[in-house]
Amino acid sequence: MSESVSDPECLFCRIVAGEIPADRLYEDDEILAFRDVNPQAPFHALIIPKTHIATLNDATPAQATLLGRLMAVATGIAVEQGFAEAGYRTVMNCNSDGGQSVYHIHLHLLAGRRLAWPPG
Ligand code: 5GP
Ligand code: ZN
Repeated sequence: MSESVSDPECLFCRIVAGEIPADRLYEDDEILAFRDVNPQAPFHALIIPKTHIATLNDATPAQATLLGRLMAVATGIAVEQGFAEAGYRTVMNCNSDGGQSVYHIHLHLLAGRRLAWPPG
C-alpha cells in the first residue's frame, strides 16, 4: 500500500482525521464511507480513499486497485442496506463540468428511488 497523504485544508481529509463529524457507515485502513450531509436520494453515501487524491485525473496507475476497492465497498454497502436487487447508482464527478464540489475524490452511492438517466 502506498503512503497515505492528508491535506489539512481538505474537508474530507478532516472527516478522515475525525476533526469534522460524519455518519460513518464503513471504515478500513484505506477507505471511509459516510452518509452525504445533503442526500439526493433516500440513501446517499460517499465512499472515499483515506489518502488525499484531489480529482480522478490525479489518481495514478498504482492507485487502480484502491479505485476498484471504492466500488467494491459501495457494492457491499448497497447489499448490506438492502438495495442490491432494486438497484442503485455509483458516480464519481470530476472537475467543474462533472459537478465536483469537494476536491478529494469520492464515489457517490445513491439508492432508494428510481434515478433518472441521463443526469442533469
Ligand atoms: P461532489 O459535488 O463533489 O460530487 O459531491 C460532494 C458531496 O459532498 C455533496 O453531495 C455534498 O452534499 C457532500 N458534502 C459536502 N460537505 C459535506 C460534509 O461536511 N459532510 C458530509 N457528510 N457530506 C458533505
Ligand atoms: Zn483530502
